[in-house]
Amino acid sequence: MSFDPTPVFARIEARREELVALTRDLVQIPTINPPGENYTDCARFVGDRLKRHGFDVRYVRAEGSIGDSDRYPRTNLIARWESGRPGPCVHFNSHIDVVEVGSGWRHDPFAATVLDGRIYGRGTCDMKGGLAASIIAVESLIEQHSELIGNLEISATADEESGGYGGVAYLCEEGWFSRSRVDHVIIPEPLNQDRVCLGHRGVWWAQIETHGRIAHGSMPFLGDSAIRHMSAVLAAFERDLFPRLKEKRTTMPVVPDGARESTLNINSLHGGQGESFDGLPTSIVADSCRMIIDRRFLIEEELGEVKNEVRQLLESLRTERPKFNYTLKDLFEVVPTITTERDAPVVRSVAAAIEYVLGKPADFVVSPGTYDQKHIDRIGRLKDCIAYGPGILDLAHQPDEYVVIDDMLDSAKVMALATHELLHTNR
Ligand SMILES: [Zn+2]
Repeated sequence: MSFDPTPVFARIEARREELVALTRDLVQIPTINPPGENYTDCARFVGDRLKRHGFDVRYVRAEGSIGDSDRYPRTNLIARWESGRPGPCVHFNSHIDVVEVGSGWRHDPFAATVLDGRIYGRGTCDMKGGLAASIIAVESLIEQHSELIGNLEISATADEESGGYGGVAYLCEEGWFSRSRVDHVIIPEPLNQDRVCLGHRGVWWAQIETHGRIAHGSMPFLGDSAIRHMSAVLAAFERDLFPRLKEKRTTMPVVPDGARESTLNINSLHGGQGESFDGLPTSIVADSCRMIIDRRFLIEEELGEVKNEVRQLLESLRTERPKFNYTLKDLFEVVPTITTERDAPVVRSVAAAIEYVLGKPADFVVSPGTYDQKHIDRIGRLKDCIAYGPGILDLAHQPDEYVVIDDMLDSAKVMALATHELLHTNR
């Protein structure tokens, strides 16, 4: 350690209440995606604050991206602080969208209740706590260290939870994440405060639709139920596919351990008459049933094989089962990556800072799900990128999601220390 971090750490600790208040303010702006509510309010809230701290603030609406409309604009914030001295740029990127609330909550999901050293609410863990920690870290560093070189950026972006096309992908296409502007990227996604996340598993989303024939429900034999065909698909998944996926294990250091296997989630299943009608349903045989699958795959698997596995299963049902007919539609895919080298500057700086702050070596991990690193890597061509943030991975998207206040403080110190290391002359 080339300098004494005690003063900047003291400054961060002195702002504990401010960090809590900032996190609560962010959580209290419900930014549920879909449809993408209140993005502009949330982005402006962050932008107004950073402007007061000397940042140049820009708002970029991802016009024409999936989901963008005047009612639900995909508003993104990029805030930049320049030291006035040449040097690299460290960028902190956080998504501001949160997933739907779901059931099973004991706490009000948007009250941001503080209890026993935690803040509860949708988005506390994933990832407004991480955004707040990075803001406090960067502000404290700038105030304490007038000798910094280069530039600092904080972005608050839309739509990560739905693929990032109205957020980081759009910004990458527009050149905001490019070698000429940005050198090192830290994404404060919830991967636990003692881990450096180097990449992610692959993902394939697809829709399987089974087709039937509509008829009167009192004479189902005159129709053909798409729902019964889908139940055959589900049975085949249980019998053949799930056991096969369980046998595949990766050498990637994926956390949690269950995600070292290939996984498949049935995201949704809809068949027959819609659910939104007044009064009683009418009597019909379902002529369509649709299932969305979310398949997560390993670096040892090929996307083509992953798709084939499902297609072959459907094809064998076509031979086994009279009138079985389906369509399979690709929705979204990302190949697995470990993009970041262990000796890359941002990896080394953050790992060293974790060891200094927490007194134990950092764990190097791979995320079970993808996040915006994929766009920064593939479109922006920036390789020096990791995820590092205070949230507890397992709590993401769960009811009663929370973030631990001490973890936010620790990770803010790690972020400040790592950034100082990257923006210091005597390196
Ligand atoms: Zn997230």
